[in-house]
Amino acid sequence: MSIQKEDIDHLLNLDKIKADEKNAHIVIDPDQCAACQAKPCLIVCPALLYTLDETGALNFDYAGCLECGTCRTICPHLKKWEYPRHTFGIYYRQG
Ligand code: SF4
Repeated sequence: MSIQKEDIDHLLNLDKIKADEKNAHIVIDPDQCAACQAKPCLIVCPALLYTLDETGALNFDYAGCLECGTCRTICPHLKKWEYPRHTFGIYYRQG
């Protein structure tokens, strides 16, 4: 059984994310991504934020990041990975 984007959205529905639109806390390197054959980010991100467009190019949207750090661990080519600035990022809630 594979997890679909709709399932992830439902599971995260209780959490709140305040995206820092002026400062991306994760930045990919498009040239490195294009050269990467494995693209493990497509599999490991629990929020499914790494996707491929119709041309096969990697898309990434940091705004839904759960701050788990998995992509930082798996990818040596990220230009930047840091926690969001104070007051930004995810606020985990319990149901
Ligand atoms: S830190 Fe975790 S949730 Fe955020 S983009 Fe990386 S793998 Fe996805």
